[in-house]
Amino acid sequence: FSTAHDLVSKPTHAKVGRVPVALGQRRLRIVVTGGAGFVGSHLVDKLIDRGNDVIVIDNFFTGRKDNLVHHFGNPRFELIRHDVVEPILLEVDQIYHLACPASPVHYKYNPVKTIKTNVMGTLNMLGLAKRIGARFLLTSTSEVYGDPLEHPQKETYWGNVNPIGERSCYDEGKRTAETLAMDYHRGADVEVRIARIFNTYGPRMCLDDGRVVSNFVAQAIRKQPLTVYGDGKQTRSFQYVSDLVNGLMALMDGEHVGPFNLGNPGEFTMLELAEVVKDTIDSSATIEFRPNTADDPHKRKPDISKAKELLNWEPKVPLREGLPLMVSDFQNRILNEDEGKGI
Ligand code: NAD
Ligand code: UDP
Ligand code: UDP
Repeated sequence: FSTAHDLVSKPTHAKVGRVPVALGQRRLRIVVTGGAGFVGSHLVDKLIDRGNDVIVIDNFFTGRKDNLVHHFGNPRFELIRHDVVEPILLEVDQIYHLACPASPVHYKYNPVKTIKTNVMGTLNMLGLAKRIGARFLLTSTSEVYGDPLEHPQKETYWGNVNPIGERSCYDEGKRTAETLAMDYHRGADVEVRIARIFNTYGPRMCLDDGRVVSNFVAQAIRKQPLTVYGDGKQTRSFQYVSDLVNGLMALMDGEHVGPFNLGNPGEFTMLELAEVVKDTIDSSATIEFRPNTADDPHKRKPDISKAKELLNWEPKVPLREGLPLMVSDFQNRILNEDEGKGI
């Protein structure tokens, strides 16, 4: 049996203002910022499945209500149109902070807005976490390693990032977000978790978001040439979205701050990726070379030993199994688009 004393001394992250554990019978309440986006909507599905109450905050810059429509009407789900650059008052137990455009095309569209989202948005969510004693998870990125001089990248690597380049609003923005998270952790005792996510793909990616997997898959379905930027020898490691969601939840619910690399260590050149897409969708697809973008990292591959050891997590879905899982979603949306145009 437990005494009143046990109840006050037991909680691991109880703080002033936090709902006492004695009320722990009630369901966990979780905010997902950016929950209408690609990764966020898959995370919301899994949290709702697990029995949590979920509040999504999104300004719909790159997210879509369609990604969440199956939860409308569920009393455990709430969707708030809100920009994280502005403060907000809520009472929750956990904050998954994903709000930020992730595709280079989207984050370069309005770079000042991107860095405001990363800095002011993250500051607001950390201020919220501090006030209510909630646990806060930041979705940072492999881009904090820049064009890496260490390969594969471990979490101890500090990166090689251009502070004044076209990608800086995103990679330097995320680096600052990590700094803020650690400062709130050390200075204000906020329970933080930091994930460094490597390239992730799956259903619900925006059709024309410019990322390589979504581009190649949409191009192959539309019978257009696959656009390979540069010589196509640059590498990336592609993670299926369900693996990422499992990793984010293991990190949030575990006892380690991180940062943790969450990615699939399988490494592919863009030409190899094009071959996998051809094998999966259309073997007659052709390739068209285009000039590469500025500051494009030459290679990227996570070392995930830390997440394996401390989170007991590793990805399960290899590229050749994951790609087919996004094809029918893309086919349906491209078909709807064509019907909308009367094609
Ligand atoms: P996404 O663009 O599909 O989703 C981002 C969501 O955030 C969208 O719903 C968008 O409308 C919302 N948003 C953007 N700015 C906002 C603002 N100011 N206020 C409120 N909402 C805002 O991207 P994603 O691929 O789902 O990425 C989610 C998170 O994961 C991002 O933080 C991204 O940096 C990180 N990440 C993703 C990848 C990847 O490969 N998908 C890799 C590394 C990091
Ligand atoms: N904030 C918020 N919701 C809250 C608490 C804080 O949006 O419930 C915002 C607040 O407006 C501020 C930021 O988070 O801009 C940082 O808050 P903190 O209390 O850490 O700093 P301060 O307000 O003292 O500068
Ligand atoms: N890329 C490509 N063709 C495309 C889109 C991207 O060859 O249609 C390349 C891009 O130059 C980069 C890699 O694919 O080297 C990954 O780009 P993406 O935008 O998907 O993500 P990043 O890792 O650069 O954030």
